[in-house]
Amino acid sequence: MSRDYYEILGVPREAGADEIKKAYRKLAMKYHPDRNPGDPDAEARFKEAAEAYEVLSDVQKRRIYDTYGHQGLENTGYQGPGSAEDIFSSINDLFGDLFGFGGRSRQRNPNGPVPGDDLRYDLEISFMDAVHGTSREIEVTKHDTCWTCEGSGVRPGHQAQMCPTCHGRGQVIRSQGFFQVSSTCPQCRGAGQIVTEPCADCDGHGLVTKTKKVSIKIPAGVDTGARMRLRAEGEGGRRGGQPGDLYVVLHVQPHDYFMRDGQTIFLRYPVSMVNAALGSEVEVPTIHGTARLKIPAGTQSGERFTLKKEGVESLRGQGRGDMVVEVRVQTPTNLTRKQKAILREFAEEYGEPHEDEGFFSRLFHGHFGQQDKSSRAGEG
Ligand SMILES: [Zn+2]
Ligand SMILES: [Zn+2]
Repeated sequence: MSRDYYEILGVPREAGADEIKKAYRKLAMKYHPDRNPGDPDAEARFKEAAEAYEVLSDVQKRRIYDTYGHQGLENTGYQGPGSAEDIFSSINDLFGDLFGFGGRSRQRNPNGPVPGDDLRYDLEISFMDAVHGTSREIEVTKHDTCWTCEGSGVRPGHQAQMCPTCHGRGQVIRSQGFFQVSSTCPQCRGAGQIVTEPCADCDGHGLVTKTKKVSIKIPAGVDTGARMRLRAEGEGGRRGGQPGDLYVVLHVQPHDYFMRDGQTIFLRYPVSMVNAALGSEVEVPTIHGTARLKIPAGTQSGERFTLKKEGVESLRGQGRGDMVVEVRVQTPTNLTRKQKAILREFAEEYGEPHEDEGFFSRLFHGHFGQQDKSSRAGEG
């Protein structure tokens, strides 16, 4: 259903950041809705390219996509750009006013509503909180609408005056030689009106600095880079403008011994030389508690065993991933005289070649990987 992002942008998989940006720029120019009014196909392509660019231009998302494809991004909670709004804001970041795309709302009425800016909040959470989900209360300091003057900046009971210099246009026109140059009105700074009786609470800005507590619920299974959007929790608007949104970007701290890749948990588990040779059953820690793991006789260092459903919960309620335990066989150190003697006796019995016989002799002797999985399976 979803096309390959590299295919969409027409770049090779090893393309660098510049190449990706260039390819996206070209497509965005070609399919931009302003250039293709009423063409649903162009609009679809435009959005598709924006989504591909959002992923491939982000090192973290690109790595996940390269490894796990679309499915992997879904597991991290990424669900494509939230709305057309997001796409346009990323476009504006990319092009600025260079191509004249910024014109969506540039021509606004200088006295009209001014929407609030979006805010970003980076939140660090522990490994286990990311795995099991948590709720947090964060404190956000922002410019919020001044409710004394309702964001107008004018002291209640008074009115703003039309700017006498620009007569409310916000722009003044000067002649320079043969040319007429339009620039922002120096008296009202483009607002078109002047506040002679400023609101005392906000000094006429229409905004006040406030610290607000915001509660957020973080679902189980999130990972670094997951972004949560809290509508209308961004900066306040002025003159009746809508507030912006608050984006909470999650950063997950590493764990002391668990590692994670999407829904899969990895653990390196130390096993003694004797238990690896003879086999044993051990209790390993999992993110959910503990689990029994059978170490078969003759297990080599680096061998991996999978514990089904001991991984991370899917964000979309599709069950748990698995846990992979990598066995590390520990060579005993600080041996006593007696232990050394026993090991020498063992070597004798086992037919261990002497050091000076070298690599090939050992190889032919069969001490490397002499027991493969099939022969061991016969024992169990
Ligand atoms: Zn005010
Ligand atoms: Zn003015």
